[in-house]
Amino acid sequence: MNFKKTIIAGMISLAAGLAMAADLPQVAILATGGTIAGTASSNTQMTGYKAGELAIQTLIDAVPAVKEFADVKGEQIVKISSNNLTDEVLLKLAKRCNELLADPKVSGVVITHGTDTLEETAFFLNLTVKSKKPVVVIGAMRPATAISADGPVNLLNAVKLAVDPKAQNRGVLVALNDQISAGRDVTKTNTTNVATFNSHDLGFLGYIAGGKNYFLRNPAMRHTWQSEFDVSKIESLPRVDILYSHANDDRVLADASVAAGAKGIVHAGSGNGSVHQATEAGLADAVKKGVTVVLSSRTGSGIVCPNFGRYFQEGFIEGRSLNPQKARLLLQLALTKTNDPKEIARMFEEY
Ligand code: ASP
Repeated sequence: MNFKKTIIAGMISLAAGLAMAADLPQVAILATGGTIAGTASSNTQMTGYKAGELAIQTLIDAVPAVKEFADVKGEQIVKISSNNLTDEVLLKLAKRCNELLADPKVSGVVITHGTDTLEETAFFLNLTVKSKKPVVVIGAMRPATAISADGPVNLLNAVKLAVDPKAQNRGVLVALNDQISAGRDVTKTNTTNVATFNSHDLGFLGYIAGGKNYFLRNPAMRHTWQSEFDVSKIESLPRVDILYSHANDDRVLADASVAAGAKGIVHAGSGNGSVHQATEAGLADAVKKGVTVVLSSRTGSGIVCPNFGRYFQEGFIEGRSLNPQKARLLLQLALTKTNDPKEIARMFEEY
Protein backbone atom coordinates (compact mmCIF):
# COMPACT_ATOMS: atom_id res chain seq x y z
CA MET A 1 0.00 0.00 0.00
CA ASN A 2 2.77 2.38 1.04
CA PHE A 3 4.67 1.37 -2.07
CA LYS A 4 1.61 2.26 -4.20
CA LYS A 5 1.30 5.63 -2.46
CA THR A 6 4.98 6.37 -3.04
CA ILE A 7 4.62 5.58 -6.74
CA ILE A 8 1.57 7.82 -7.07
CA ALA A 9 3.31 10.64 -5.17
CA GLY A 10 6.36 10.20 -7.42
CA MET A 11 4.20 10.36 -10.53
CA ILE A 12 2.45 13.49 -9.29
CA SER A 13 5.73 15.26 -8.54
CA LEU A 14 7.18 14.16 -11.91
CA ALA A 15 4.08 15.48 -13.69
CA ALA A 16 4.31 18.74 -11.70
CA GLY A 17 8.00 19.01 -12.60
CA LEU A 18 7.26 18.41 -16.28
CA ALA A 19 4.41 20.93 -16.26
CA MET A 20 6.70 23.50 -14.61
CA ALA A 21 9.49 22.86 -17.15
CA ALA A 22 6.94 23.18 -19.97
CA ASP A 23 5.93 26.64 -18.68
CA LEU A 24 9.52 27.86 -18.41
CA PRO A 25 11.45 29.47 -21.26
CA GLN A 26 13.88 27.15 -23.01
CA VAL A 27 17.61 27.79 -22.83
CA ALA A 28 20.21 25.75 -24.66
CA ILE A 29 23.59 25.39 -22.99
CA LEU A 30 26.38 24.62 -25.44
CA ALA A 31 29.45 23.31 -23.66
CA THR A 32 32.98 23.50 -25.01
CA GLY A 33 35.13 22.62 -21.98
CA GLY A 34 37.45 25.05 -20.19
CA THR A 35 38.17 25.56 -16.50
CA ILE A 36 34.45 25.76 -15.74
CA ALA A 37 34.48 22.02 -16.51
CA GLY A 38 37.95 21.51 -15.05
CA THR A 39 38.98 19.14 -12.28
CA ALA A 40 41.98 19.13 -9.95
CA SER A 41 43.28 16.61 -7.46
CA SER A 42 42.41 18.78 -4.45
CA ASN A 43 40.05 21.64 -3.71
CA THR A 44 42.96 24.01 -3.13
CA GLN A 45 44.56 23.40 -6.53
CA MET A 46 43.82 26.46 -8.70
CA THR A 47 46.41 26.06 -11.48
CA GLY A 48 47.83 23.13 -13.41
CA TYR A 49 44.46 21.31 -13.32
CA LYS A 50 42.77 19.53 -16.24
CA ALA A 51 40.39 21.83 -18.14
CA GLY A 52 37.34 20.50 -20.00
CA GLU A 53 36.94 17.27 -18.01
CA LEU A 54 33.32 17.39 -16.85
CA ALA A 55 30.34 16.87 -19.13
CA ILE A 56 27.69 19.57 -19.42
CA GLN A 57 25.03 17.59 -17.53
CA THR A 58 27.36 17.43 -14.50
CA LEU A 59 27.72 21.24 -14.56
CA ILE A 60 23.95 21.70 -14.83
CA ASP A 61 23.27 19.19 -12.04
CA ALA A 62 25.64 21.14 -9.78
CA VAL A 63 23.38 24.21 -10.05
CA PRO A 64 19.79 22.92 -9.59
CA ALA A 65 18.60 26.55 -9.16
CA VAL A 66 18.88 27.10 -12.94
CA LYS A 67 15.77 24.92 -13.33
CA GLU A 68 13.70 27.54 -11.47
CA PHE A 69 14.31 30.00 -14.30
CA ALA A 70 14.52 27.95 -17.46
CA ASP A 71 13.97 24.60 -19.05
CA VAL A 72 17.66 23.99 -19.77
CA LYS A 73 19.08 21.51 -22.25
CA GLY A 74 22.81 20.88 -22.41
CA GLU A 75 24.76 19.96 -25.54
CA GLN A 76 28.42 19.04 -25.54
CA ILE A 77 29.96 20.67 -28.62
CA VAL A 78 33.59 19.87 -27.76
CA LYS A 79 35.62 19.26 -24.59
CA ILE A 80 38.75 21.38 -24.95
CA SER A 81 40.92 23.78 -23.07
CA SER A 82 40.20 26.96 -25.01
CA ASN A 83 43.84 27.69 -25.83
CA ASN A 84 43.20 24.91 -28.39
CA LEU A 85 40.23 26.70 -29.99
CA THR A 86 39.95 26.21 -33.77
CA ASP A 87 38.06 27.85 -36.66
CA GLU A 88 36.12 24.60 -36.94
CA VAL A 89 34.75 24.99 -33.39
CA LEU A 90 33.90 28.65 -34.02
CA LEU A 91 31.93 27.77 -37.16
CA LYS A 92 30.19 24.87 -35.41
CA LEU A 93 29.10 27.12 -32.54
CA ALA A 94 27.84 29.88 -34.85
CA LYS A 95 25.80 27.42 -36.92
CA ARG A 96 24.34 25.69 -33.87
CA CYS A 97 23.41 29.02 -32.23
CA ASN A 98 21.61 30.08 -35.42
CA GLU A 99 19.71 26.78 -35.62
CA LEU A 100 18.65 26.93 -31.98
CA LEU A 101 17.70 30.60 -31.94
CA ALA A 102 15.54 30.20 -35.07
CA ASP A 103 13.28 28.01 -32.94
CA PRO A 104 10.60 30.26 -31.39
CA LYS A 105 10.57 28.04 -28.28
CA VAL A 106 14.22 28.84 -27.47
CA SER A 107 14.68 32.06 -25.48
CA GLY A 108 18.45 32.20 -25.48
CA VAL A 109 21.74 30.32 -25.61
CA VAL A 110 24.46 29.99 -22.99
CA ILE A 111 27.94 28.87 -24.00
CA THR A 112 30.35 27.48 -21.43
CA HIS A 113 33.92 28.12 -22.52
CA GLY A 114 37.51 28.32 -21.37
CA THR A 115 38.46 31.86 -20.46
CA ASP A 116 41.72 31.97 -22.47
CA THR A 117 40.03 32.56 -25.82
CA LEU A 118 36.50 33.26 -24.60
CA GLU A 119 36.70 36.79 -26.01
CA GLU A 120 37.41 35.40 -29.47
CA THR A 121 34.38 33.12 -29.50
CA ALA A 122 32.19 35.91 -28.09
CA PHE A 123 33.31 38.33 -30.82
CA PHE A 124 33.02 35.74 -33.59
CA LEU A 125 29.44 34.95 -32.53
CA ASN A 126 28.74 38.69 -32.20
CA LEU A 127 29.51 38.88 -35.94
CA THR A 128 27.78 35.69 -37.09
CA VAL A 129 24.69 34.97 -34.95
CA LYS A 130 21.55 36.24 -36.66
CA SER A 131 19.26 36.88 -33.72
CA LYS A 132 18.26 39.48 -31.16
CA LYS A 133 17.88 36.79 -28.50
CA PRO A 134 20.56 36.68 -25.79
CA VAL A 135 23.71 34.64 -26.36
CA VAL A 136 25.75 34.60 -23.17
CA VAL A 137 29.31 33.26 -23.09
CA ILE A 138 30.68 32.26 -19.70
CA GLY A 139 33.60 30.47 -18.14
CA ALA A 140 35.33 30.27 -14.80
CA MET A 141 38.77 31.04 -13.46
CA ARG A 142 38.72 28.30 -10.83
CA PRO A 143 38.12 24.64 -11.67
CA ALA A 144 34.81 23.03 -10.72
CA THR A 145 36.53 21.13 -7.88
CA ALA A 146 38.01 24.27 -6.26
CA ILE A 147 37.04 25.84 -2.99
CA SER A 148 35.05 28.97 -4.00
CA ALA A 149 34.69 27.81 -7.60
CA ASP A 150 33.23 30.65 -9.67
CA GLY A 151 31.64 28.47 -12.37
CA PRO A 152 28.31 27.65 -10.66
CA VAL A 153 27.31 31.26 -9.99
CA ASN A 154 28.41 32.26 -13.49
CA LEU A 155 26.17 29.51 -14.92
CA LEU A 156 23.19 30.62 -12.84
CA ASN A 157 23.73 34.27 -13.86
CA ALA A 158 24.05 33.29 -17.53
CA VAL A 159 20.80 31.30 -17.58
CA LYS A 160 18.98 34.20 -15.92
CA LEU A 161 20.43 36.57 -18.52
CA ALA A 162 19.43 34.23 -21.35
CA VAL A 163 15.77 34.51 -20.34
CA ASP A 164 15.85 38.22 -19.52
CA PRO A 165 14.10 40.36 -22.19
CA LYS A 166 16.41 43.23 -21.13
CA ALA A 167 19.38 41.21 -22.42
CA GLN A 168 18.01 41.09 -25.97
CA ASN A 169 19.51 43.00 -28.88
CA ARG A 170 22.74 43.96 -27.10
CA GLY A 171 25.04 41.70 -29.09
CA VAL A 172 26.72 38.63 -27.65
CA LEU A 173 27.27 39.02 -23.91
CA VAL A 174 30.00 37.79 -21.60
CA ALA A 175 29.05 37.38 -17.94
CA LEU A 176 31.59 36.50 -15.28
CA ASN A 177 32.16 37.78 -11.77
CA ASP A 178 28.71 39.47 -11.65
CA GLN A 179 29.67 41.80 -14.52
CA ILE A 180 28.02 41.91 -17.96
CA SER A 181 30.33 42.78 -20.84
CA ALA A 182 30.01 43.22 -24.58
CA GLY A 183 31.52 40.27 -26.45
CA ARG A 184 33.02 42.77 -28.87
CA ASP A 185 34.91 44.80 -26.29
CA VAL A 186 35.80 42.47 -23.47
CA THR A 187 39.23 40.93 -23.05
CA LYS A 188 41.02 38.71 -20.56
CA THR A 189 43.35 40.94 -18.58
CA ASN A 190 44.74 38.81 -15.76
CA THR A 191 46.25 35.32 -15.84
CA THR A 192 44.56 33.92 -12.72
CA ASN A 193 42.25 36.45 -11.03
CA VAL A 194 38.46 35.92 -11.11
CA ALA A 195 38.07 39.61 -12.04
CA THR A 196 40.01 39.00 -15.25
CA PHE A 197 37.48 40.24 -17.83
CA ASN A 198 37.13 43.91 -18.58
CA SER A 199 36.80 46.22 -21.53
CA HIS A 200 39.47 48.78 -20.63
CA ASP A 201 38.26 52.35 -21.31
CA LEU A 202 34.88 51.15 -22.56
CA GLY A 203 33.61 49.63 -19.33
CA PHE A 204 30.97 47.04 -18.56
CA LEU A 205 27.47 47.00 -20.04
CA GLY A 206 26.00 46.23 -16.66
CA TYR A 207 26.05 44.42 -13.36
CA ILE A 208 24.36 41.44 -11.78
CA ALA A 209 23.43 42.24 -8.19
CA GLY A 210 20.86 41.02 -5.70
CA GLY A 211 19.74 38.41 -8.24
CA LYS A 212 18.90 41.04 -10.89
CA ASN A 213 20.49 42.18 -14.13
CA TYR A 214 21.22 45.91 -14.42
CA PHE A 215 22.09 47.21 -17.91
CA LEU A 216 23.71 50.64 -18.05
CA ARG A 217 24.74 50.99 -21.71
CA ASN A 218 24.51 49.46 -25.18
CA PRO A 219 27.19 48.50 -27.70
CA ALA A 220 27.38 51.08 -30.51
CA MET A 221 28.90 48.90 -33.25
CA ARG A 222 27.01 46.60 -35.68
CA HIS A 223 26.37 43.15 -34.26
CA THR A 224 24.42 39.89 -34.63
CA TRP A 225 21.26 40.47 -36.74
CA GLN A 226 22.77 43.70 -38.19
CA SER A 227 25.93 41.91 -39.35
CA GLU A 228 26.60 41.22 -43.04
CA PHE A 229 28.57 38.03 -42.33
CA ASP A 230 26.84 34.74 -43.03
CA VAL A 231 28.68 31.53 -42.20
CA SER A 232 25.77 29.16 -42.91
CA LYS A 233 27.48 27.78 -46.04
CA ILE A 234 31.09 28.30 -44.97
CA GLU A 235 33.17 25.22 -44.08
CA SER A 236 36.54 26.88 -43.40
CA LEU A 237 38.02 30.34 -42.88
CA PRO A 238 41.01 31.91 -44.62
CA ARG A 239 44.35 31.83 -42.83
CA VAL A 240 45.11 35.10 -41.02
CA ASP A 241 48.24 35.38 -38.88
CA ILE A 242 49.10 37.83 -36.10
CA LEU A 243 52.61 39.31 -35.91
CA TYR A 244 53.61 40.93 -32.62
CA SER A 245 55.96 43.90 -32.95
CA HIS A 246 59.03 44.26 -30.70
CA ALA A 247 62.42 45.95 -30.50
CA ASN A 248 64.87 44.59 -33.09
CA ASP A 249 61.94 43.22 -35.16
CA ASP A 250 62.55 42.08 -38.74
CA ARG A 251 60.58 40.73 -41.73
CA VAL A 252 61.19 37.02 -41.15
CA LEU A 253 57.73 36.27 -39.74
CA ALA A 254 55.96 38.44 -42.35
CA ASP A 255 57.69 36.46 -45.10
CA ALA A 256 56.97 33.16 -43.33
CA SER A 257 53.32 34.10 -43.06
CA VAL A 258 53.05 34.77 -46.79
CA ALA A 259 54.91 31.53 -47.53
CA ALA A 260 52.47 29.64 -45.26
CA GLY A 261 49.58 30.87 -47.42
CA ALA A 262 48.13 33.59 -45.21
CA LYS A 263 45.45 35.65 -46.92
CA GLY A 264 45.70 38.26 -44.20
CA ILE A 265 48.14 39.50 -41.57
CA VAL A 266 47.22 41.44 -38.45
CA HIS A 267 50.21 43.39 -37.19
CA ALA A 268 50.10 44.03 -33.43
CA GLY A 269 52.15 47.20 -33.64
CA SER A 270 53.64 49.43 -31.01
CA GLY A 271 51.61 52.53 -30.06
CA ASN A 272 49.21 53.71 -32.77
CA GLY A 273 49.82 50.63 -34.93
CA SER A 274 53.44 51.54 -35.66
CA VAL A 275 55.57 49.03 -37.57
CA HIS A 276 59.34 48.49 -37.25
CA GLN A 277 60.91 49.67 -40.50
CA ALA A 278 62.49 46.27 -41.06
CA THR A 279 59.08 44.59 -40.80
CA GLU A 280 57.37 47.31 -42.83
CA ALA A 281 59.19 46.29 -46.00
CA GLY A 282 58.01 42.70 -45.51
CA LEU A 283 54.41 43.77 -44.96
CA ALA A 284 54.49 46.07 -48.00
CA ASP A 285 55.69 43.13 -50.11
CA ALA A 286 52.93 40.98 -48.63
CA VAL A 287 50.32 43.50 -49.82
CA LYS A 288 51.89 43.42 -53.31
CA LYS A 289 51.35 39.63 -53.27
CA GLY A 290 47.63 40.09 -52.49
CA VAL A 291 47.77 39.63 -48.70
CA THR A 292 45.58 42.02 -46.69
CA VAL A 293 47.51 43.74 -43.87
CA VAL A 294 45.65 45.23 -40.92
CA LEU A 295 47.39 47.43 -38.36
CA SER A 296 46.37 46.75 -34.78
CA SER A 297 48.10 47.72 -31.55
CA ARG A 298 49.79 45.84 -28.74
CA THR A 299 48.86 48.63 -26.27
CA GLY A 300 45.53 47.07 -25.25
CA SER A 301 43.34 50.13 -25.72
CA GLY A 302 42.68 53.11 -27.96
CA ILE A 303 42.03 53.43 -31.69
CA VAL A 304 44.52 52.78 -34.47
CA CYS A 305 43.94 55.80 -36.68
CA PRO A 306 45.96 57.51 -39.46
CA ASN A 307 49.65 57.37 -38.55
CA PHE A 308 52.37 57.72 -41.22
CA GLY A 309 50.97 58.63 -44.65
CA ARG A 310 53.11 55.94 -46.22
CA TYR A 311 51.19 53.22 -44.37
CA PHE A 312 48.18 54.25 -46.43
CA GLN A 313 50.30 54.27 -49.63
CA GLU A 314 51.55 50.78 -48.79
CA GLY A 315 47.93 49.60 -48.55
CA PHE A 316 47.82 48.86 -44.81
CA ILE A 317 44.34 49.03 -43.24
CA GLU A 318 43.79 50.53 -39.79
CA GLY A 319 42.27 48.08 -37.32
CA ARG A 320 40.60 50.80 -35.19
CA SER A 321 39.73 49.68 -31.65
CA LEU A 322 39.82 45.89 -32.04
CA ASN A 323 42.65 44.11 -30.26
CA PRO A 324 44.82 41.91 -32.52
CA GLN A 325 43.01 38.64 -31.79
CA LYS A 326 39.62 40.21 -32.56
CA ALA A 327 40.95 42.08 -35.61
CA ARG A 328 42.10 38.68 -36.88
CA LEU A 329 38.55 37.25 -36.67
CA LEU A 330 36.98 40.25 -38.40
CA LEU A 331 39.60 40.04 -41.14
CA GLN A 332 38.91 36.31 -41.61
CA LEU A 333 35.20 37.01 -42.04
CA ALA A 334 35.85 40.05 -44.23
CA LEU A 335 38.02 37.91 -46.53
CA THR A 336 35.15 35.44 -47.02
CA LYS A 337 33.37 38.29 -48.84
CA THR A 338 35.99 40.53 -50.44
CA ASN A 339 39.63 41.54 -50.61
CA ASP A 340 38.89 45.11 -51.63
CA PRO A 341 40.86 47.23 -49.10
CA LYS A 342 38.23 50.00 -49.11
CA GLU A 343 35.49 47.54 -48.22
CA ILE A 344 37.60 45.92 -45.51
CA ALA A 345 38.46 49.34 -44.08
CA ARG A 346 34.70 50.08 -43.96
CA MET A 347 34.14 46.86 -42.01
CA PHE A 348 36.76 47.89 -39.45
CA GLU A 349 34.84 51.17 -39.05
CA GLU A 350 31.49 49.46 -38.54
CA TYR A 351 32.06 46.33 -36.41
N1 ASP B 1 43.07 27.10 -20.09
C1 ASP B 1 41.70 27.28 -19.69
C2 ASP B 1 40.86 27.44 -20.93
O1 ASP B 1 40.85 28.49 -21.51
C3 ASP B 1 41.59 28.47 -18.81
C4 ASP B 1 40.20 28.79 -18.35
O2 ASP B 1 39.18 28.25 -18.77
O3 ASP B 1 40.10 29.67 -17.46
O4 ASP B 1 40.20 26.52 -21.31
